[in-house]
Amino acid sequence: MDSAPHSEAAAAGQSCPRCGGPLTARTVKSAFWSATGVVVVEDIPAHVCDACVEQFYDDRVSDALRRLAEQGFPADQASRQMVVPVFSLSGRIVDAPPLPEDVFLE
Ligand SMILES: [Zn+2]
Repeated sequence: MDSAPHSEAAAAGQSCPRCGGPLTARTVKSAFWSATGVVVVEDIPAHVCDACVEQFYDDRVSDALRRLAEQGFPADQASRQMVVPVFSLSGRIVDAPPLPEDVFLE
C-alpha cells in the first residue's frame, strides 16, 4: 500500500529525488483516468523540479488525491467542467526509417 506515484517525501528547499535538481513549490493540475473517463484535478500543491519537471506531493496531498480516486471522482463534487480535445494517431504515423535521436524534423 502507500505506493502512489510521486509520493516520495519532498519538502521545499530539498533537491529532486530523481535528478538532484532544485524543487520549487507550485500549484499544479493533473489528469487522471477514472472509470468513466479523464478527470482533471487542479489546485494541487506540489514541489516541482526545475530541471526534470517531475512533480512531488506531500503525504497529505497524496492522501487527498487517493481519497478522491477511491471515491471515484464523484461528478457532483467537480468544481467545473472542461471540454477536452481528443486526438487520434490514426493516419499520423509516418512510415519512415528511424532517425538518429539527435535529429529533429522541421
Ligand atoms: Zn528532477
